Amino acid sequence: MRAQPTASHFVDGAYLEDEAGTPFDSIHSATGEVIARLHAATPAVIDKAMKAAARAQKEWAATPPAARARVLRKAADLIYANNQALSELEALDTAKPIQETLVADATSGAEALEWFSAQAASIAGEAVPLGTDFAYTVREPLGVCVGIGAWNYPTQIACWKAAPALACGNAMVFKPSELTPLSTLKIAEIFMEAGAPAGLFNVVQGMGEVGAALTTHPLTAKVSLTGSVPTGGKVYAAAASGMRHATMELGGKSPMIVFDDADIEDAVGGAMLGNFYSAGQICSNGTRVFVQAGLEERFLERLIERTKEIRLGDPMDPETQMGPLVSEAQREKVLGYIETGKREGATLAHGGGVPSGGLFDKGAFVEPTIFSDVTDEMTIAREEIFGPVLSLLTFETEEEAVERANATPFGLAAGVFTGDITRAHRVAGALEAGICWINAYNLTPVEAPFGGVKQSGFGRENGRAAMEFYSQLKTIHVGLAPVDSPY
Ligand code: NDP
Repeated sequence: MRAQPTASHFVDGAYLEDEAGTPFDSIHSATGEVIARLHAATPAVIDKAMKAAARAQKEWAATPPAARARVLRKAADLIYANNQALSELEALDTAKPIQETLVADATSGAEALEWFSAQAASIAGEAVPLGTDFAYTVREPLGVCVGIGAWNYPTQIACWKAAPALACGNAMVFKPSELTPLSTLKIAEIFMEAGAPAGLFNVVQGMGEVGAALTTHPLTAKVSLTGSVPTGGKVYAAAASGMRHATMELGGKSPMIVFDDADIEDAVGGAMLGNFYSAGQICSNGTRVFVQAGLEERFLERLIERTKEIRLGDPMDPETQMGPLVSEAQREKVLGYIETGKREGATLAHGGGVPSGGLFDKGAFVEPTIFSDVTDEMTIAREEIFGPVLSLLTFETEEEAVERANATPFGLAAGVFTGDITRAHRVAGALEAGICWINAYNLTPVEAPFGGVKQSGFGRENGRAAMEFYSQLKTIHVGLAPVDSPY
């Protein structure tokens, strides 16, 4: 199962190796096999990537928007055409089930490129009449944007950042997580095949230090990070020191509120999607499921019944619905939280263990886990676990549910399930989150902005809003009258 890339990095339109960089392995966590060995970027590689991006950006910004749009559109088409191969690589890299990667990774990246290609051709400013004079505004690119990704959705994260960045006339240097270094190299190849200038989209590998070096590089105009809140704090502070632009897509501990008039099958389905998809490794997951007291028993019963049906197994098997976690370290972290949940008095209603036999003995698997009788103070209700662990809490009134849902430093996402249309909008309006789903969960179409509030970050990906975070406004005042100078 080797998936060794041609070289570790993709810089200035070609693969690049520098064996002086710290070596690291890419491991398929379903089997523990090493599938590739790469090297972290050295300062020379980082500098080469940044300089190539700066050069390409000038050429790209001078390219007519419709021509830029064609390149993005072609890249999208190439991703769609190569979805099978890209999804297999993503499944190897992340150990997410092929059933998921076929529909939620490369295709989601392609949708971003397709949608932002249409936006690229429609960037415009406004004319401002000023009596005799007038002014007009232009939306300019920022320059070289650095993208830093988490390991759960490497292709999607790279494309969600690159699509608006490139549409606005910027270039990008992207650093994937060291745990999932492979798939974004293929995206870099595809950009070249689509006709992008060499250096427009570069991939450099490495750990946090490489991300830190990119963030403070003199040529960096903007940093967009998808990662945890602690990393976000460091990257934001480093970006601020150079007055660089920043987008922070960070973690969450999102609430999902289920009222007793909700469609129970939909609510259970939403709770499962929002906790078990990608083995729970999704930033916007609704990991605090607040169920109205009268519904709790029936809800829990159906939740357990349906969770028992989830097929755990080999990510490369199309029948598998849940694979392992991304790494052994992540599994240890998740199992630690499960132990803490039990110790602090939550009821382990389902799962909580490690499956055994065959592949399960080799990979970083954890059973889908449900805790009931969870209280707001418990660690599992406060901290982001990033694994398949659902916490069920109960509430009596709407006011109480909203207050408790908002009692968290995070603010990425939220959900409300109810049959009462008025209450649905009232609760969605009151929840402190960047995105709130009504009778749905974890849907992130490219047309709608996505991002957090509070400590979950700022800036937006997707939707037209994303363009504002990859461009800056210039005002040009045109004097038409004689200069009125007192001197
Ligand atoms: P981390 O915060 O550990 O890492 C994110 C990225 O930042 C990695 O590429 C990492 O490198 C890099 N990095 C680490 N330190 C620094 C630094 N000082 N300067 C620059 N870059 C640095 O997150 P994870 O990879 O563990 O991903 C999980 C987290 O991501 C969760 O909290 C999750 O909620 C969040 N996330 C948020 C999403 C959103 O859209 N809001 C979506 C997906 C995930 P390396 O790890 O290779 O060392």
